[in-house]
Amino acid sequence: MLFIGLRHDVDNTYGLRKGLPKVIDIERRHDVKSTIFVRIDIFHSERDYKFLRSIFYEGWEIGLHLINTVNDPSLISPSEELKILREIVGTNIYGVTPCGKTIGFKGDITWMVMDSLGLEYMEGYGSPNFNAKTFIMPTHLSFDIYYVRNYGEEDGYRRFKEDLMRELDNRGVATVLTHPEWFVRSVGGKGLIKIPLTILGVKMMNKVYEKFLSEFKDKVLFLRYVDLYRLFKEGKR
Ligand SMILES: [Zn+2]
Repeated sequence: MLFIGLRHDVDNTYGLRKGLPKVIDIERRHDVKSTIFVRIDIFHSERDYKFLRSIFYEGWEIGLHLINTVNDPSLISPSEELKILREIVGTNIYGVTPCGKTIGFKGDITWMVMDSLGLEYMEGYGSPNFNAKTFIMPTHLSFDIYYVRNYGEEDGYRRFKEDLMRELDNRGVATVLTHPEWFVRSVGGKGLIKIPLTILGVKMMNKVYEKFLSEFKDKVLFLRYVDLYRLFKEGKR
């Protein structure tokens, strides 16, 4: 059996309100569930909390998308971020990933900060140079911001598939990341060029993500990260 862990990072309110419902809709239609990693600064109304809670109750996993990746004292502390997320969705938070938007992934420092949260699993890039207590997830393929942004929907998908198949051949497991905002906005280009690209529907994730799910659904088992973690723990992988 082959396994693919599905991850989505929600970096902003737009991604939460506009993008995430599209992702959930696609996954619901394909009977697939994933892990949604959220920054704690994206919530601005009671509706935002309610929406996240509703998808959590429906079975999607919620994880912490860590802002303060180096424990910078001028920001909210990492453990406080976790506490805030637990106040929103309850105690069932199992994993953490670093957000690239504020400070970003800083190697061992970030690994140490994530490890200190005492969660079940964490994912960064590669693995730390020390013995972490927390389980390390295999590094994701960046479906949107690497493959589709750089190579477009068609060629990007072809390259993504090649790399994905290689991962699956090598270890039977892969993880895939997208950002919900690119299901409503074009992932291609920076700044104003995004507007015409979005209007033209170029480099958008909807169709290509749907294609990925339908094409692989008979070959692999799509899982939330926490399910993948449990498989590793039981030694099935
Ligand atoms: Zn992020």
